[in-house]
Amino acid sequence: MVSVPVHCPYCHSSEIIKAGKQANGTQRYQCQNGRCARRIFLLQYRDRGRVPEVRRQVVDMALNGSGVRDTARVLRISPTTVIAIVKKSRRAPTRQSHVAAYSSFTRCPRPARTRRRGG
Ligand SMILES: [Zn+2]
Repeated sequence: MVSVPVHCPYCHSSEIIKAGKQANGTQRYQCQNGRCARRIFLLQYRDRGRVPEVRRQVVDMALNGSGVRDTARVLRISPTTVIAIVKKSRRAPTRQSHVAAYSSFTRCPRPARTRRRGG
């Protein structure tokens, strides 16, 4: 018997338990680290839009001014997936610096409206 050590791709903890299977039969794993931002993960995603590295690239491209369709073509994922990832990255309470940079970028306050009282 050969045991393969599984590490969490988010916090690199080795306290991992199996957590059932996906509908397609892929094994799911659960991170037991209480401070980890992510609990359930797969070792191999079939869907490109779920791969952590691709999701990171979507946020990076959004920060660098790439459009939704532009990002979707380059990363070979659907435009609706790009929109969903960008929306989620704004509110995700992760400790990753690029996400924090993105949320501070989008939260900049609007300039106060100045009303002119013309006579
Ligand atoms: Zn973890």
